[in-house]
Amino acid sequence: MTEEAFDVMVVGSCMTDLVSQAPRLPKAGETIHGHKFFIGFGGKGANQCIQAARLGAKTAMVCKVGKDFFGDNYIQNFKDHGVHTDFVGQTSDAATGAASIIVNNAGENAIVIVAGANMLLGSEELQKALPAISHAKVLVCQLEVSPQTSLQALRMAQENKVKTIFNPAPAIPDLDKDFYRASDVFCCNESEAELLTGSSVTGVEEAHEAGQELLKRGCGSVIITLGPQGCVVLKAQEPASTKHVQTAAVTTVDTTGAGDSFIGALAFYMAHYPTMPLEEMARRANQVAGVSVQAVGTQTSYPFKKDLPAEMF
Ligand code: ADP
Repeated sequence: MTEEAFDVMVVGSCMTDLVSQAPRLPKAGETIHGHKFFIGFGGKGANQCIQAARLGAKTAMVCKVGKDFFGDNYIQNFKDHGVHTDFVGQTSDAATGAASIIVNNAGENAIVIVAGANMLLGSEELQKALPAISHAKVLVCQLEVSPQTSLQALRMAQENKVKTIFNPAPAIPDLDKDFYRASDVFCCNESEAELLTGSSVTGVEEAHEAGQELLKRGCGSVIITLGPQGCVVLKAQEPASTKHVQTAAVTTVDTTGAGDSFIGALAFYMAHYPTMPLEEMARRANQVAGVSVQAVGTQTSYPFKKDLPAEMF
């Protein structure tokens, strides 16, 4: 298995975004004409994996797609990025996860997500991937697949001393405490931190407080991302610390998927520079995600290694 030692393995979701732009959102029973349609690759797990791969990480994805056109297309997207696809299952029992998105001229949207095949990812696939998971450098999980599957994957990694990043997104109230204990780095955004702690989280001060609360629940470190304000990084290990890591101001075009770009970059740095201080990894992940917000789209906006300054590597 050593020849297959992956830098970053992601256990998570794949979604196909079906985006229609229309002057307004249709009412129930109504059909209206839109002016633009495009298909995008999304899903938090896959986004994070693709960002890590674009930075040069040797990656593998553990996920489930349907035996359909979208599933085939997604597998090809992984292959195009050099992502290992032996642990991408295809099922006839559900369709590939899809997000039907309508965006109106005011930029508002209406979205229907059908998780489909993502919810069928389970123990069987994890057992198949276990030899690879146990040798990986970093494992990343989110909550767009069944929470039991995510927790099982995090535990598998932890038992094998593989570093874990857990992104509790989309956040669920009353998250099982074992998720905290299984996370080396627990990384979420302000609204997720708010839902998990029950306290308002807007800005640096409140993020520090929420981070302390999350840290107490048993994770090694906490990162709360703050959009244009960068992130806060809190470490439990002595000497315990809490720092605000600012990011450079940029011209923002589209922030969709910025959090996933940040996490994919963080996973890359944790795998490649295991002794680098977490604050420095977060500073660099800010820079990567800061590039992603300057272009339209989700994965299409993620930078490759060649697009970034050499001193970031
Ligand atoms: P999410 O996409 O999950 O809502 P955030 O909005 O907190 O997450 O963004 C994640 C990261 O992306 C931030 O920590 C920051 O590095 C970067 N980022 C997001 N929005 C901006 C912005 N407007 N300017 C610069 N960087 C940004």
